[in-house]
Amino acid sequence: MTEVIIAGAGPAGLLLACELRLAGVDTVVLERHPRRPDFCRGFNLNARALDLLARRGLADPLIAEGWRVPHAAFSSLPVTLGLAGTHTDHPYSLGIPQTRVEEILEEHATARGADIRRGHELRGLAQDDDGVEVTVATGGGEYRLRARYVVGCDGSSSTVRKQAGIAFPGTATTRWSLLGDVEPAEPLPFGVTSGPGGDVFVIPRPGYVRVITADPGDHEAPVTQEEFQRALDAALGRPITIVAARWLTRFGDAARQAEAYVRGRVVLAGDAAHIHPPAGAIGVNVALDDAFNLGWKLAATVRGTAPAHLLGTYHDERHAAGARVLASTQAQVLLGETSGPLADLLTRVARHPGGNRAFAETITGLDTRYPAHPAGDHPWLGRLALTGDGPLATLQRQGKGVLLGPDDLVELAEPWAEHVIMGPGEPEGLLVRPDGHVAWVRTSGADGLREALAHWFGEPRSEPQSSHERPTNADAPAGSRTC
Ligand SMILES: Cc1cc2nc3c(=O)[nH]c(=O)nc-3n(C[C@H](O)[C@H](O)[C@H](O)COP(=O)(O)OP(=O)(O)OC[C@H]3O[C@@H](n4cnc5c(N)ncnc54)[C@H](O)[C@@H]3O)c2cc1C
Repeated sequence: MTEVIIAGAGPAGLLLACELRLAGVDTVVLERHPRRPDFCRGFNLNARALDLLARRGLADPLIAEGWRVPHAAFSSLPVTLGLAGTHTDHPYSLGIPQTRVEEILEEHATARGADIRRGHELRGLAQDDDGVEVTVATGGGEYRLRARYVVGCDGSSSTVRKQAGIAFPGTATTRWSLLGDVEPAEPLPFGVTSGPGGDVFVIPRPGYVRVITADPGDHEAPVTQEEFQRALDAALGRPITIVAARWLTRFGDAARQAEAYVRGRVVLAGDAAHIHPPAGAIGVNVALDDAFNLGWKLAATVRGTAPAHLLGTYHDERHAAGARVLASTQAQVLLGETSGPLADLLTRVARHPGGNRAFAETITGLDTRYPAHPAGDHPWLGRLALTGDGPLATLQRQGKGVLLGPDDLVELAEPWAEHVIMGPGEPEGLLVRPDGHVAWVRTSGADGLREALAHWFGEPRSEPQSSHERPTNADAPAGSRTC
């Protein structure tokens, strides 16, 4: 029996595989497509996704290839949202193809020992008390595979979600759009062009343009070049010849969220857990966010070191975050359709420095704050710890918790040494979860530290660990130590 089967080698599945392998968990990734498609859906990583990837050294190779955009937009508001000064180590959005992000994650997961099986489709699953059995179809037939947990990272039509009987409530699509990655006979201006028949949105891409316009047609059948041409001409009110079409598709504005992200031994992440209107181009980023939150929790659960509630906190934290994404993207759609007093008011708010920052942090998820245990009112609690060039930047690469602080805290945390790396750099005291969120900040003595450690990492060992059993800390900067 393997430990974890992941269905789907998109951004969520691949980052989860990286995280599980970092913790030494046996991981099989089933991907129904024999190879990555030759079209690309997303083209950006936001500041929060970069902050998360940076914790494992995965952001730098992407940043080296991508282009930085230091601002964002909220729907049709005529205001640029500045990312400088927001709560991030990466105050920009990175232009980078989703396919390239997937390639780098796949290389990383494979190098760490993940068993990625392309051309293997999960068709069915059945769970019992000890594990989950899945049925896998390949070109050559079917086989069965058993695992302790199965994670559905298999996209919006998730077979895992359906097979596990997890409801996907929400709103159905009310409006469809056509998308074409095309080569037009004449240049099309970047941005929105309003024609007599509607709007056309154009985004330049290397060697082609992405064109989005309203879909007047049949929402089930594949989009043809003729249909796309007709829709474009109708919107603009004049013919623009499409010389070649690389990818034609249609998408809707449905917003749905799985009622449970964890059901027994089946877990959902990414588009399998939530779909929303494409406003703000955030799907890849939320998928990565889910996977990063889940990885260390599932690894500890499989290892048997996690407190019983830990996997449930994945649902609690990411379901709440997903609900905010649905609300934010739906609000952006509504705002795009309105003018007058509401749009004017929000424009004024967005022009105010505080409002500008709030909009920027909301649409990038930089305002994400998870409940802390014990609760407290320190402004860092529950938020992502910024690393700058400090010791956290390297200490987090091992995928463990990090405690920065003086000797009295190190001694107190010693029974959790298997899960937490100790380092200098924070004169007061700071406990950071493996996913970078602040679990505890010293405000008075060591109050609450034991509770926080037990909440996230389980009961302490009764016997002190001998020094040869302590985790090595090869990546840690000089001066840091494991306790
Ligand atoms: C036209 C379009 C444009 C977009 N643009 C952006 C953008 O600019 N920015 C952004 O952030 N997001 C964008 N998105 C959204 C983004 O692509 C998704 O949110 C993101 O890919 C979700 O990642 P995922 O890993 O959850 O799922 P997916 O990327 O959908 O990956 C799921 C994988 O599971 C595989 N699979 C499915 N069923 C099975 C099965 N039964 N067995 C095995 N494998 C299976 C699929 O083949 C696929 O590889 C866009 C989406 C679309 C459609």
